[in-house]
Amino acid sequence: MNHRLASAAPTRADHRAVHRNNLEVVLRHLGTVGPDSRAGIATRVGLTPSTVSRLVAELLDLGLVREVADAPSSDTPRPGRPAIQLELDGRHILALGAEISVDRITVIGTDLAGTVVYHRDRVFDAARSGPEATAAAVGRLCTRAVDTVVRKSPAHVTLAGLAVAVPGLVEVETGVVTEAPNLYWRGFPFGKVLAEVSDLPPEAIVLGNDANFAALAEYRIGSRAGTPNLIYITGEVGIGGGVIAAGQGLLGSHGHGGEIGHMKLDPKGARCGCGRRGCWEALIGLDALLREAGLDDEPTPPQGRRSARTAGAPARATGRGPRQWSASTRAARVAERARAGDKRTLAALETLARWVGIGAANLVNIFDPQVIILGGYFRHVAEWILPTARQVMVEGVLAPDAGGCELAISSLGFEAAARGAALHMIDQVIADPARLAVQAYPKWGVPGPARQRDRARRRVSEPRAASP
Ligand SMILES: [Zn+2]
Repeated sequence: MNHRLASAAPTRADHRAVHRNNLEVVLRHLGTVGPDSRAGIATRVGLTPSTVSRLVAELLDLGLVREVADAPSSDTPRPGRPAIQLELDGRHILALGAEISVDRITVIGTDLAGTVVYHRDRVFDAARSGPEATAAAVGRLCTRAVDTVVRKSPAHVTLAGLAVAVPGLVEVETGVVTEAPNLYWRGFPFGKVLAEVSDLPPEAIVLGNDANFAALAEYRIGSRAGTPNLIYITGEVGIGGGVIAAGQGLLGSHGHGGEIGHMKLDPKGARCGCGRRGCWEALIGLDALLREAGLDDEPTPPQGRRSARTAGAPARATGRGPRQWSASTRAARVAERARAGDKRTLAALETLARWVGIGAANLVNIFDPQVIILGGYFRHVAEWILPTARQVMVEGVLAPDAGGCELAISSLGFEAAARGAALHMIDQVIADPARLAVQAYPKWGVPGPARQRDRARRRVSEPRAASP
């Protein structure tokens, strides 16, 4: 331990950190125990009444808490003014989560309580369009989301920020997409470009891996919420993983952990989107299932190690046909055929189930999770794959009965990553409420027609309306 540092007088940064921590403590207290008075907060969280008053004033300004009159109780009538209670507000906070997948962009907006106030899916071929055009499309969709929420809002809207879920490796600090194999992007400064094309302040944009955000959503709001040891598997063309261990996301030293889709399971197997052979993704990704089931009858994406798309590189055609349909539609086609008793489809699903079980067994041996949640397209084919996958998983795990680990289907479906991204922005606000002041309108401009922009700015600059 550095004694010189340990004994140094507190710096300004220390005070800021303490202040930020105190704001978080008050917010979490109100979020957990419900409405409370200033005096009650002070007693219960162990801060002085004057400190609590200052913190509450700041949180009121930010619209994160609101004052409500204490409901008079009939059995213990009290004389004088009713006590003022404070409760978590955040209805005017907008947290945006966007997901870029191979075939669509999803934008979800929530308030501070996580209630969805906006949801839009747009079919979009991010691989064919390239990263710049995708950034522009994400920017436009998010601007539209803000405009829509602002139009419906009785008072103002403050942006908590935008988290973008990307199917690949992401440098969280810099907003650079290191490698997104199924989009053919490599080393692209997506966060910076998105800030430029959308007028979003760079500090309001966060990038993250889609599976990690989806795992967060499952852990918080999914059917197995609160399960401290959980693994989420994305079910799209690509297969990603998000690992929650002891209630914490396991990201590794670079934030690149959880790339379970690239576990090598069959060295002589099919070529993966990453260019290698025999990755789990090449065995259980949606394209692998379509190929096995004979549903890849239209032109497929180019095989072999694809050159990564970077700024200025020519767009690569991905072919017309099933890939232009959503993953959900294509998986539904498989289910339709299976229901009709199509032999090839049923055999393909049996093969899929075995590979899901083999990979899941590896994960259970390494992480000992309580549940492995299959997301995305797996929901459509669950009834044909779960029994075999579960059996194969149990056979491959050292611990008896796979330690009781369950294989479950996501209740959040294709929304999981965008929901998790929005939840991540809410966490950021709770952890550092002052960041809202930095990102509040009118600094956060709205691109688009000037009239619309001005109207939006006027609306959001209006003083906060009285609480109903
Ligand atoms: Zn791979």
